[in-house]
Amino acid sequence: MHELSLSEAILGTVLKHADGRRVTAVDMTIGALRQVVPDSLEFYWDIVARDTLCEGAELRHTMIAGRARCETCEKEWELDLPIFLCACGGTARAVAGEEFEVESIVVEDKEDACIAQR
Ligand SMILES: [Zn+2]
Repeated sequence: MHELSLSEAILGTVLKHADGRRVTAVDMTIGALRQVVPDSLEFYWDIVARDTLCEGAELRHTMIAGRARCETCEKEWELDLPIFLCACGGTARAVAGEEFEVESIVVEDKEDACIAQR
């Protein structure tokens, strides 16, 4: 159900920026460490977007690989799971992979839509 609440959060952000215009696509950046399942997110997105200006909008995403840096030895490495322990015994911090952001939205131009319907 993690993805359901995330979908609702995306919808809130997108509707605010759409400002009454119909949304056709949403571009997201998702960090691998957020443990989001894209298929599941898209599934819930279609449900929460129903009967809103986002209905039928495509949810696109770019995945960002997780990266950690050790605070003790400053070694950096890529990781898929949020486990922040270095081989030297030091504690690491995520330097990438915790993103979860709406980068941009594509809205339908109302005037163009009118012309297309003639
Ligand atoms: Zn280390």
